[in-house]
Amino acid sequence: MLDFIDVILPIPLQKAFTYHITKAEVDFLEPGMRVAVPFGKSKIYTALVYNIHKNPPTAYEAKTIHQILDEAPIVTKNQLKHWEWISKYYMCSLGEVMRAAMPNAFILESETIISKNESVVINDSELKDDEFLIYEALHHQSSLKIGDVISILDKKRVLPIINALVEKGAVVLQEEIYQKYIPKLVRYVRLHSSYKSEGKLQELLEDLNRAKKQREVVLSLFQLEVQSKKPIKVSDLSAQSGASSAIVKALIDKEILEEYHIQTDRVSFDGETDSEEKTLNEFQEKAINEIKTSFEEKPVVLLHGVTSSGKTEIYIKLIEEQLELNKQVLYLLPEIALTTQLVSRLQNHFGEKVAVFHSRYSSNERVEAWNNILHKEEKAQIIIGARSALLLPFSDLGLILVDEEHEQSFKQFDPAPRYHARDAAIVLAHIFKAKTLLGTATPSLESYYNASQGKYGLVELNQRYNNVLMPEIELVDLADKYKRKRMKGHFSDRLIEEMTEALEAGFQIILFQNRRGFSPIIECTTCGHSPQCPNCDVSLTYHQYRDQLRCHYCGYNSAMLKSCQACGNTTLDTKGFGTEQIEEEVKTLFPDYKTARMDLDTTRGKYGFERLITKFEQKEIDILVGTQMLTKGLDFRHVKLVGIMNADNLLNFPDFRAHERSYQLMAQVSGRAGRTDLRGKVLIQTYNPHHNILQQVSTNSYYEMYKEQLNERHNYKYPPVFRLIKITLKHKDYNRVNLAADWYAKSLRQLFKANVLGPEFPPVSRIRNQFHKNILIKIPPGQALGKTKEAILKVDNSFNAVKDFRSVRVIINVDNQ
Ligand code: ADP
Ligand code: ZN
Repeated sequence: MLDFIDVILPIPLQKAFTYHITKAEVDFLEPGMRVAVPFGKSKIYTALVYNIHKNPPTAYEAKTIHQILDEAPIVTKNQLKHWEWISKYYMCSLGEVMRAAMPNAFILESETIISKNESVVINDSELKDDEFLIYEALHHQSSLKIGDVISILDKKRVLPIINALVEKGAVVLQEEIYQKYIPKLVRYVRLHSSYKSEGKLQELLEDLNRAKKQREVVLSLFQLEVQSKKPIKVSDLSAQSGASSAIVKALIDKEILEEYHIQTDRVSFDGETDSEEKTLNEFQEKAINEIKTSFEEKPVVLLHGVTSSGKTEIYIKLIEEQLELNKQVLYLLPEIALTTQLVSRLQNHFGEKVAVFHSRYSSNERVEAWNNILHKEEKAQIIIGARSALLLPFSDLGLILVDEEHEQSFKQFDPAPRYHARDAAIVLAHIFKAKTLLGTATPSLESYYNASQGKYGLVELNQRYNNVLMPEIELVDLADKYKRKRMKGHFSDRLIEEMTEALEAGFQIILFQNRRGFSPIIECTTCGHSPQCPNCDVSLTYHQYRDQLRCHYCGYNSAMLKSCQACGNTTLDTKGFGTEQIEEEVKTLFPDYKTARMDLDTTRGKYGFERLITKFEQKEIDILVGTQMLTKGLDFRHVKLVGIMNADNLLNFPDFRAHERSYQLMAQVSGRAGRTDLRGKVLIQTYNPHHNILQQVSTNSYYEMYKEQLNERHNYKYPPVFRLIKITLKHKDYNRVNLAADWYAKSLRQLFKANVLGPEFPPVSRIRNQFHKNILIKIPPGQALGKTKEAILKVDNSFNAVKDFRSVRVIINVDNQ
């Protein structure tokens, strides 16, 4: 009997693919090992062994594999189990999960992949229009293929553009399949072995009496060796001795010193751990005991603790207990780039045991983290990362913490697998018989609902640490202020008063505005025309800094217009406002204070965000203007005042979650104020001061908000009561998308009747020259999920069999956010 393996290919195939293997290979191979296999006419892929068996495929003749790439599995059995769940639940292929899970360096293929060069910061103005489009697209997805570039630019001759980007250092190409992981080598020095004895050493120092500088270097080396008892880097030695590296090199050439290399991890922690233990206060103590009791009965607990109640300290205690049991802990955060503070807090406490899995890590850094976790190395006991960290090869997980569990960014949007990290974490923990703790000051309706149904345990923590009061929230009525001429630009007199007071007392201020750029809309006051993106169905945003118009969907940009394209008059005016404009107004209002802006435009580059945070922490900035980036669990000590410039554009966002989200966002931004001993102050400017959500935010009434919103969700059949699956069809031809969506919706309606909504164009119906149309399926409580998804897949298969629809892209998003 012949032997076969099923492999997972890193492409969207519905089924595993079967290959023939030899007797010798059977003995060696195990599920979770990589093999290189031929696929299609001429492609070679890295594939993952899924299972080994003796059943030949019926539909095709099995080919043989090219090569075995591993000596032992690099993907664990538990991971494969978890991937299976993800692929089934989120309706995608195992290959897509594999692609999301494994570092790129593990799954190179013979097609060229273009990715951003993370080590170089490119100034957008260096790029030509087409180049910018590609570069911008790489901010949204980690890599592109030639085909993607062709469709983004909508032109065939793209190689010159890609080459130009490579020359400018903006992107890198990966072509070879067998590109190896390259360990990083660090240069160290020590005294040459021939001087090891006392006598020889004495002679050497006497000899060097005439070469003062060289003598200095040798003495410095001794000093360093005594101080640190660790290998000495060449760079440290020149720093200590004040000698140039040329002098060190001369000593190496004379064989007085010798150099050697040690392979080091690219990402290593070399700070001191802080030994000072924090003791939990009585409220924290009570909460942690409740969590532990709850865990005895329930695998998942929701910790609802107001901002600054000391949730992180509770996590730290729980992590300690897991480490004592020799278990791994996964700490999930909404976006790792935004949480440097937390990372250093954990590193200060746990030192080397913390491994950070950073979304901006290079491929090599990812490989290192992967291997450390797989081999349960000491330095990978606590893994902290954003959603994709969930896909790492844990071997012995005891606890998963999902911090800021309400955050939308836990849901992967594009490409597949479109998983929700919170929900997938609960499943992962289940596989390991581990526990999951969800923590937040503003729970998602989903989690609070699950807790109130008894599915999750619920622990509440209503006291801020140190008994600081929750910030005082004041609503400022913009309509009234405008009427009575109490506005300077976008600032009410109340906001200016409070800002002046806070600044004079030496405190810092955060101003929140949820739009970046200068103003979202440019409008001609003569004819009413506003410039639109040529690729998308949206108005262009004005960015004053570069005097440019830009599309926030596709990255298209052009110079600001001198006159209206429609009527030719020079009566272009700006409408609405973004962070850039607020920053400018602040600078005019408070010229003596330092103002900075934190949004996507100012935090590009690997450490852009970190730099801003550190500056703000060090009080080099007095007023920080920013978008939602400001909200993510940051802990600043000197912020007394938070201003929300305009609450209405949050509240009026066309989405059934808009009110819940507005509450969460405003409560979180407010939580940045007054985190030490002084009570903070929050000013919310709005045209609707009587809006229920604003009332609930200002009285800190989460539960009222929850009840009211849940009621609406009941009435209108939305989550958490009903479940949703959103199907998006995309095509560049308007008519085809319409026909296809009608066909799809009609088939679904035969099955699910009135629970199918649409097809409907979304508010922005064309993005990157593709028309979008959505169909929404609502799944009532009690309707079997598995069966529902099977039925949808059947419809999808028949759809794909229609020749005219083959070029229409269908995106299935389960539990869309
Ligand atoms: P949360 O995560 O709930 O917003 P944090 O854990 O960030 O709150 O705590 C708020 C502040 O209070 C932090 O600066 C933290 O260091 C401090 N803090 C919390 N608990 C303790 C404790 N038990 N001992 C000393 N400081 C604490
Ligand atoms: Zn666009």
